[in-house]
Amino acid sequence: MTAISSDLVDSHVAVKGAATNGDKANGHAKVSGTESRAAEAREPGDASTSQKPHRVLLVGGAYAGVAAVLTLLDGADGKLATGEPPLPRLRKRIEVTLIDERDGFFHAVGTPLAHVAQASVSPMWLRYQSISRLQRDDVRIVHGRVSSVHPENLCVSFSDLDNDGKDTTLEYDFLILASGLARQWPSIPKANSFDEYVDDALKHISHIRNAKCETVAVIGGGAVGIEFASEIKHFHQHNRVVLIHSRDKLLSNEPLPELFQIQAEKLLDGEGVEVIFNQRASVVETDGVSTITLADGRKIEAGYVFHATSGYKPNTQMLPREAVDEEGYVFVDQHMNLTCPMVNARRHYACGDICRWSGIKRAGPAMVMGRVAATNVFHQLIHAEHLEHNEPFEVVADPDSADHFDPAALKKPSSPAVYPQVPPTMALAVGKQAITYQPHVGVVWGSDQCAEVFGHDLGWTNSLRYLGILNERA
Ligand SMILES: Cc1cc2nc3c(=O)[nH]c(=O)nc-3n(C[C@H](O)[C@H](O)[C@H](O)COP(=O)(O)OP(=O)(O)OC[C@H]3O[C@@H](n4cnc5c(N)ncnc54)[C@H](O)[C@@H]3O)c2cc1C
Repeated sequence: MTAISSDLVDSHVAVKGAATNGDKANGHAKVSGTESRAAEAREPGDASTSQKPHRVLLVGGAYAGVAAVLTLLDGADGKLATGEPPLPRLRKRIEVTLIDERDGFFHAVGTPLAHVAQASVSPMWLRYQSISRLQRDDVRIVHGRVSSVHPENLCVSFSDLDNDGKDTTLEYDFLILASGLARQWPSIPKANSFDEYVDDALKHISHIRNAKCETVAVIGGGAVGIEFASEIKHFHQHNRVVLIHSRDKLLSNEPLPELFQIQAEKLLDGEGVEVIFNQRASVVETDGVSTITLADGRKIEAGYVFHATSGYKPNTQMLPREAVDEEGYVFVDQHMNLTCPMVNARRHYACGDICRWSGIKRAGPAMVMGRVAATNVFHQLIHAEHLEHNEPFEVVADPDSADHFDPAALKKPSSPAVYPQVPPTMALAVGKQAITYQPHVGVVWGSDQCAEVFGHDLGWTNSLRYLGILNERA
């Protein structure tokens, strides 16, 4: 199997990315594909496309999507770091299009800081125009919301958010879907632009700071509730912070050892957060004061209530029904290739939180999946070009990849990248401390853990370093 650094799969510690500086270009190409084109189910490398650039479309530009784009660019530059000799360069141009409903890469892991601490608001949203590695001729960024994927026509429909939401179409040869999970504000921003996001976040912080009764209640003792409660207490010490949970242990929905749950409670206590267990809460707001009635009849008055109980669902409504399970998670194989019996399925990949895969949904695995998906798209392009020019390219096919690559065309060694099945692992920031769990290490906590895993910005610096764009912010 191709070696993709999987450090982030098993550990929470960021690894050094294979950073390369992209060429500066004059700007982005315009979105031009306004008509859908009927396409027969085609094999990658079909000669009918031979004069056109390879068009790879990424839907979603956060951890998984940006990792995939940068991997494709490394491939285009002959620098794909697979742990083997670099893959050959493509003969044809590659044209990478990244479409996102946001105008930047938002650090979702950092939301408990971004929506709580004023100094953290701006840094957590990295506008695409500020990422210098994306400013090149072969990359275009589209600000739009994809509404449907048409695998048979190899195109997506989307609303163009820079053009009054106009319905538009974009064609591709390969699609990588990295659209993450839909979550409720304020667990995640509701805005699609940096300016609106900053506005929303500052108002939210003001509500916390000026909460009547000097009390903030957080309802829901999962990871999001714990992280928000501890950051609110840390940055707004004058407030009483109460975390209300309906079960007898925190993180009750996560497949984690009991020690993790108990220790999370101790860390919260150490931060000064009051935790109330085994109580459902009903909330009635009048004149800026919420009266929270607990199941046992107790009442708490709070000036601000943070609801951390709302669920989430994969942003995959745009895919054909057969591509997803009953909850909306995308069926993929270990190459991140869609596995459903869909036309042109081999040209469709998914990565990150939307995948039906083992382990707890986290940013590190999302980035690794993005690399795996993009590496395999690149493999397919190389393979297709070699077939087109009658120059067989060797593929050491593992049994599961036989339908991706033609083992009959063996010449040079290469193989598809693989993302393994992973056990549950977790890292949780609780104020200046953190608690982590990995099966082979166990439960570990303390301020050293926090410094190593999350740094000062809930892991943003570590993520950008892993992606190789740490120093690329304009
Ligand atoms: C409050 C909070 C705390 C967290 N803490 C941690 C933590 O401590 N550690 C950890 O590892 N993980 C944590 N996570 C989970 C982590 O954020 C996710 O695992 C990670 O964001 C997944 O990355 P992704 O690229 O798959 O999706 P996302 O980061 O969700 O990105 C999806 C992208 O797709 C775009 N998009 C969605 N739909 C469309 C569409 N129709 N058209 C165009 N674009 C679209 C979105 O705008 C977004 O940019 C936390 C999450 C939250 C909300």
